[in-house]
Amino acid sequence: MHTSRMHTEDGIRISGAREHNLQDVSLRIPRGKITVFTGVSGSGKSSVVFDTVAVESQRQLAETFTWFVRNRLPRQERPKADAIERLSPAIVVDQRRLGGGARSTVGTVTDIHAVLRVLFSRCGTPSAGEASAYSFNDPGGMCPGCDGLGRVVRLDLDRALDTSKSLNGGAILFPPAAIGTAWWQIYGESGLFDPDKPLARYDDREWQLLLHGKGFSVKRRGSTGTYNNVYDGLVVGFERLYVHRDLSTRTERVREMARRYTHHGVCPRCAGARLAAPALASRLLGRNIAEMAALEIGHLIGVLKAVEGPVGEAVAAQAVASLERVEGIGLGYLSLDRETSTLSGGEGQRLRMVRHLGSSLTGMTYIFDEPTTGLHPGDVARLGDLLLRLRDKGNTVLVVEHDPDVIAVADHVVDMGPGAGTRGGHVMFEGTPEQLAAADTPTGRGLRRVTGVKREVRELGEWLTVSSASSAAPVHNLKDVTLSVPTGVLTVVTGPAGSGKSTLVSEVFVAAHPEAIVVDQSAIGGSVRSTPASYLGVLDAIRRAFGKANAVAPGHFSFNSAGACPGCRGRGEIQTDLAFMDPVTTTCEACGGRRFTDAVLAMKLRGKSIADVLELTAGDAVEFFAADEGQAAQGELERRLRALVEVGLGYLTLGQPVSTLSGGERQRLKLATRLHLTGSLYVLDEPTTGLHMTDVDALLALLDRLVGSGNTVVVIEHDPQVVKHADWVVDLGPGGGMRGGEIVFTGTPGELLGHPTSLTALHLRRTVD
Ligand code: ADP
Ligand code: ADP
Ligand code: ZN
Ligand code: ZN
Repeated sequence: MHTSRMHTEDGIRISGAREHNLQDVSLRIPRGKITVFTGVSGSGKSSVVFDTVAVESQRQLAETFTWFVRNRLPRQERPKADAIERLSPAIVVDQRRLGGGARSTVGTVTDIHAVLRVLFSRCGTPSAGEASAYSFNDPGGMCPGCDGLGRVVRLDLDRALDTSKSLNGGAILFPPAAIGTAWWQIYGESGLFDPDKPLARYDDREWQLLLHGKGFSVKRRGSTGTYNNVYDGLVVGFERLYVHRDLSTRTERVREMARRYTHHGVCPRCAGARLAAPALASRLLGRNIAEMAALEIGHLIGVLKAVEGPVGEAVAAQAVASLERVEGIGLGYLSLDRETSTLSGGEGQRLRMVRHLGSSLTGMTYIFDEPTTGLHPGDVARLGDLLLRLRDKGNTVLVVEHDPDVIAVADHVVDMGPGAGTRGGHVMFEGTPEQLAAADTPTGRGLRRVTGVKREVRELGEWLTVSSASSAAPVHNLKDVTLSVPTGVLTVVTGPAGSGKSTLVSEVFVAAHPEAIVVDQSAIGGSVRSTPASYLGVLDAIRRAFGKANAVAPGHFSFNSAGACPGCRGRGEIQTDLAFMDPVTTTCEACGGRRFTDAVLAMKLRGKSIADVLELTAGDAVEFFAADEGQAAQGELERRLRALVEVGLGYLTLGQPVSTLSGGERQRLKLATRLHLTGSLYVLDEPTTGLHMTDVDALLALLDRLVGSGNTVVVIEHDPQVVKHADWVVDLGPGGGMRGGEIVFTGTPGELLGHPTSLTALHLRRTVD
């Protein structure tokens, strides 16, 4: 068609792109279309989409701003490329967790809570005032007992007091106010209390005064005289000194003490509803705004559709339209009052997507990072619809994704490869999904492949059983379920998003098996200088090898020694703080980013300097060190490096900052340090995140090896390839949230195929014939 040809011609044009591993990549991305980027992990998809297209778009946009604004934006370097042309403004919707602390909820980030507030201020009876009176983030609406947080942190009285004792008898156990301290003297030697009366016999007035009195002056007798003090009850003083104050600068001992005597509880004044009394008294259809916000979104939609009256109907319809978008993306099991900090990366990304669907912007470029993460195959179709709707509003949509169902909705596919790291970085294929399915690339072959379910399952061992009813961990939506996991095999726990998999496995099961090795996607602690090499603990061995080869002390090759570049102290880059502006990071001029002095860089190990070795990929490093035979210590070094290759991270360089890794890569890095155990229990939450079909095969081989060496492995997964490969499957559902929380099926993958109602079974059948 004429118009589509025009679109292609004026699409985004990239030539000679060279970020990270890209090998002079040139391509065109059609405007107003959905383009999916495929390829094995580490092949360079993100380097094209995020580090080239998005960065350049944001940089060009920033150039149009005034000097004043520009200086307040983080400075972007121009991506390494000959030309990047015809960009439109880019909006990146990635998996960074939604921050915002306790004040950020599903309702606030989607702006739906604001619509609900307008609804209550117009139609609630009695009305609490205008809309801010219903906001827990506004002084006019927040509960004064908890400042709108719904929770209070206070002194744990059960720990701090022994009420069978008197003040003189040592009733106060909390060390800073224990007998003999100046704090204790305010109670014990002020004449306000009978110091010999057990606290259990205090009347209400004495009890209130001891805990909550404040603001009057009091005399206490100290060892060298009498002092005037302002009286603070125990609870009041504790809050002033340990709750409302930043303890991060105090010693670990003080912080530990504060933690031990702290009680986290629901605010007694608002019972966790966060709002002041007038807002909570205001009702609509029998519910106040906090009760509405606590309903699951799917349920709330039905409630709001019953609102009547000209004003109410219009406002409620606006809220319903937004809520239906959230439900449409498979998040109907969330409630508006859910704090965003408790959402997974995939849930957060989909929630942000909803906000963009509601916007009327067109002509933008939207960029998504594996939006199917955490989604059951049943929810992927709806995700595809959302991408189509974004496109049909006149936007260009770029998606990094492995899921065949998402690839199928693409107008255009760019397949990167052939391998990872230095073995990738080329465009292998450009064309339609149909053409890709016939293409001779790893992705094309993966799409054509049909695999059956595992029929010869391993023999089940003993049962590790846990029941949610007796669990100390939060059970959320779980309906009194009993999970039994056979030892010595691979168990896959599956089910729709929100059905309760993480709750059952990562909370309830893990709480009952504290020895379990949990390999998740959470951040890796440590310094900003952490790298795969430091995390694996191979730096010392590498330094020793260099020291031996050059007959110097290994310390020369350390970042915090005299061998490090004095210009940047071994960081390779320099941060300059400019008044009123963001700090600017530049490559160190003294060493050109190589982090060591020239003298150290001149010392070689089989032709390579320490900086060269840190730039090796893990795969290349294995070969490099394996070449040095006959060294016992080297064997250990090689084993650790090989573990990185085995978990599919052979393309990472030894010196790449851990902070640049994705969640899935972090998870596999953690796994690499825990591969050599036997007789252990491993728990993994969605380890295929970010993995290409061919990488999934490698992961499965790895899990088989873990089981083969006598371990028990439990995996939360949606990927049909993993489910088919299990020895034992536990399927949760039937739906998400209130409609989930039950075990729908347990058995072998072969038995699951025939299950009449399970959603997982439905989608599994689609992948085997
Ligand atoms: P994909 O998105 O296909 O998984 P990436 O584009 O993230 O691949 O990575 C391509 C290559 O570039 C990999 O070898 C990766 O280790 C490397 N790489 C990615 N990000 C960085 C970075 N910030 N610094 C150095 N190397 C990086
Ligand atoms: P899955 O892992 O199957 O996606 P989850 O175990 O994460 O499901 O969630 C099950 C239910 O528990 C959902 O309704 C979810 O909204 C709820 N839930 C999960 N985590 C929390 C939390 N931290 N606070 C409140 N509710 C939660
Ligand atoms: Zn409160
Ligand atoms: Zn330097």
